Amino acid sequence: MKDQTGPGALLRKRIRIAGAVQGVGFRPFVCKLAREMDLAGWVRNGSQGVEIEVEGPGHVLVVFSRRLREDLPPNAFITEFKESDISPSGETFFEIVSSASDAKVSVPVLADLAVCADCLREMNDSSDRRYRYPFITCTHCGPRFTIMTGLPYDRPQTTMADFPLCAQCAEEYENPLDRRFHAQPVACPECGPQIALWEADGREVAAREEALQAACEALTAGRILAVKGIGGFHLMCNARNEAACGMLRERKHRPSKPFAVMMDSIDQVKTYCEVSGMEGELLTSPQAPIVLLRRRGPHPVPPLRAGEGMEAVTLAASVAPGNPYLGVMLPCAPLHHLMMAELRFPLVATSGNRASEPICTDEREALERLCGIADLFLVHNRPIAHRCDDSIVRIMAGRPAVMRRARGYAPLPVIQNRRISESPKAALATGAHLKNTVALAVEGRIVLSPHIGDLDTPQAVAGHEAAIRTLCDLYRVEPETVAHDLHPDYYSTRTAGRVERGGLVPVQHHYAHALACMADNGESSECLAVCFDGTGYGLDGTVWGGEFLAIGESGFERFGHLYPFRLPGGDAAAREPWRVALSLLHEAGIEGDAVPFAGTRESSMVRQMIARNLNSPATTSAGRLFDGVAALLGLCRVNTFEGEAAMALEFAAAPDTDEVYPWALEGGVLDWRPMLCAMQGDDGARAARKFHNTLAKAVVEVAKQSGFRKICLTGGCFQNKLLLERTVHSLVCAGFEPLWHWSLPPNDGGIAAGQIIATMRNEGR
Ligand SMILES: [Zn+2]
Ligand SMILES: [Zn+2]
Repeated sequence: MKDQTGPGALLRKRIRIAGAVQGVGFRPFVCKLAREMDLAGWVRNGSQGVEIEVEGPGHVLVVFSRRLREDLPPNAFITEFKESDISPSGETFFEIVSSASDAKVSVPVLADLAVCADCLREMNDSSDRRYRYPFITCTHCGPRFTIMTGLPYDRPQTTMADFPLCAQCAEEYENPLDRRFHAQPVACPECGPQIALWEADGREVAAREEALQAACEALTAGRILAVKGIGGFHLMCNARNEAACGMLRERKHRPSKPFAVMMDSIDQVKTYCEVSGMEGELLTSPQAPIVLLRRRGPHPVPPLRAGEGMEAVTLAASVAPGNPYLGVMLPCAPLHHLMMAELRFPLVATSGNRASEPICTDEREALERLCGIADLFLVHNRPIAHRCDDSIVRIMAGRPAVMRRARGYAPLPVIQNRRISESPKAALATGAHLKNTVALAVEGRIVLSPHIGDLDTPQAVAGHEAAIRTLCDLYRVEPETVAHDLHPDYYSTRTAGRVERGGLVPVQHHYAHALACMADNGESSECLAVCFDGTGYGLDGTVWGGEFLAIGESGFERFGHLYPFRLPGGDAAAREPWRVALSLLHEAGIEGDAVPFAGTRESSMVRQMIARNLNSPATTSAGRLFDGVAALLGLCRVNTFEGEAAMALEFAAAPDTDEVYPWALEGGVLDWRPMLCAMQGDDGARAARKFHNTLAKAVVEVAKQSGFRKICLTGGCFQNKLLLERTVHSLVCAGFEPLWHWSLPPNDGGIAAGQIIATMRNEGR
């Protein structure tokens, strides 16, 4: 064999590939490619990914390994590719062999994907055996994480385990050259799950196609449906029917938080919203997130009467009251496609929950929890193993930024980190209180759970604990180190204490924000983090939230912050921006008769609280500064949802001025009081715009004083497109390198990832 050294000499290579290479049709791809090139050998799933042995002429093998990397199936990606030479065995055929059975599993858990074009085509083909079947799927699409009960990802370890394959499905499942080869959720009308329509008392009124038709009739008639989707229930109604939308708001006790809308096509989206190329790509991507789009034309539109849904072309005003943006998604599950094709009008598709509870996943649970909200329940009998909301993405400063990381994205690894792979121990992070997510560091990866919600209800707390169990069980680890927020009273802090086995790592809230932002940009060197946020527990025990943190090799220093003010009534001030407005006026020494919304009696009560320092904790919160200014400008009296006042301020801003207000900066303390004084008497839209401009310019001055060149922009306030874009622009113009979020949310949904990274930084020394 030694003399066979020419380019045509027979060689054998062992190739190991890690990444998203299981459950995405990777082995059939390898098999087809090898057979096409007349090579021999085998491919199999291993614990680390996919293993290949391939034999043939040397020059062909070179092309083979290049094409392996270049012609990947959709949804597959490679994180590691190792090749070595072994002795040829004289094999003449290439085949897929059964998986190596290895206890340790380290392939990533895949996220759920929207139905693919091939499956859609079959679903709409009356000669296909899956014609109009709402659970059609293949290796390139469909549920993954939400049906997974264990790893490796194999049918017995999914919620499809109780649906034995019929002969035809089994044939497809076992044929390496079929699109459904080892597609774990493969099913057909003969052997798979089915839909049914239930009354609110759980009585079945229709099944299969009849259920679909009856559900669509009910929606057309203005009724509210709970619809079981991929990762949980949606509450749906006709988005053009004001009575239906208003009723949904009333029943859900949700006065003004915008509803997301499902539309049937990009063309339909374009009749309501402006859609850029990048936004169109996001909408039609396999992740199929909710994309925040600017609405077209004048809004809000006049309300319609009930029953006028079909004729009206405008959306009901109560879909997203007073909001120039609309959260839009295209159908992702085959069931949604079938519904939208019948309806021809957009549907409100909001999370099937009460207030900030997690979404329902089980139909019996939904009957109970959505009782009094939904008139009818469109359900199915494929169990959801793990809850997963719709993701929310907004294009900001020219690129997508994930605001809520869930279906389609979670729980794919967010970061590959060498420091973690060197660490033998698994670490867990329990996240923040609002928009909770949890994170796990294992085998060089950081995985983040899907969005869970605010930990204010027993359901959310149960969801939080379930998410911890899910990640630990799927990856079969018992975390030693557990990171948590510095706040002693957060529920997530108490969870950490309960699951910890080898050490607790408390992480300051805004430091965690900064680390998440840095990691999201692949940045680990020193920088200045501008954290404009709601509230977080500070190192000194006060309420932080407008912080300039100098991030070092390990740890951080508080370089500066916003000039502090009081929160009269504590938590009440977060709900009632008018209280903050009074506090800001007090600090600025302005006589406060000019506060909109504040009645004489309550405002004199709050003034006394401030003056006597009663239940009025000090804060540096940027989020509360936005709230207070919004109230001063008469834009918002009470926050009915988190961020409402700040959103109103962003939307109110006049488009066309670069003017700024005066401000002061001393010893890293950004003093907003001169701005507040100058704002008095200014027109609302103009003042809102100048407020954003001022913060952006002030950040540049802080950056100059700090001496850093890289500036991280993080915290919930940077969900504000105007603030982010103004600040990025100002920093770039001044020669700085701004870093901002994209795959990890800038809000508290990204905190868990930052907490995990903090444990790595401490472990290094
Ligand atoms: Zn498919
Ligand atoms: Zn079947």
